[in-house]
Amino acid sequence: MQEGNMMDGDFSCMPLPSPGEVNFEAQAPQARKRQSSNGVLPYAPVIRATTLANPNAIELYTYWKYTGKIYSVQTEGRESLREAREARKLVDAYKYGLERGSGGADFRDAVMDAMAEFIDHRGFWFFPTDSTEGHPNTKMLHFMAFVYALNIYPPEHRFEEDEFRAAFLNELENFPKDKTYRELWDGFMQDGRCRFHEHRTGRCWRAIYDNAA
Ligand SMILES: [Zn+2]
Repeated sequence: MQEGNMMDGDFSCMPLPSPGEVNFEAQAPQARKRQSSNGVLPYAPVIRATTLANPNAIELYTYWKYTGKIYSVQTEGRESLREAREARKLVDAYKYGLERGSGGADFRDAVMDAMAEFIDHRGFWFFPTDSTEGHPNTKMLHFMAFVYALNIYPPEHRFEEDEFRAAFLNELENFPKDKTYRELWDGFMQDGRCRFHEHRTGRCWRAIYDNAA
């Protein structure tokens, strides 16, 4: 216990992060929402959208087909519940996209973009690694491996699922050494998302929706 480091309030029941963890967190991506008090503007949602109808996965697909938006944003209940519900909705939507086979490829790419927006704004912890169970070698599995590699402090690297662990280690090994993890994430959000798209028809799904470009 390092009482001398205590600031205001009683945090005596919380373990203090180690210096290594503090250093890791200082260069890792941060949910934009948590940085807003430091003057960092929230990433403006482009793909995610709100509707009072709270569509299921099939309806999400239909709405997306006509608008280029993923209507996953939740409007009811406490904030933490809304966030958990949206993460679940996005995972379910991706699974529905898988059921559609090659015809669901553009939709899967769009859902992956919506997941990236959600994670950028809210943080990654709403998506457990079992979000990718039953996803043999999908782009979403590799995207989650990328997200986890950027966000999880190395001593906490414990993954039981072989395929996920292999994808995770592959990401980690290939990170450029001259950039912080936050820089890697920001670059990905700005113009790197096609890396985890399938582009089954030879072009990005966003190219067919002017308002979502
Ligand atoms: Zn693309």
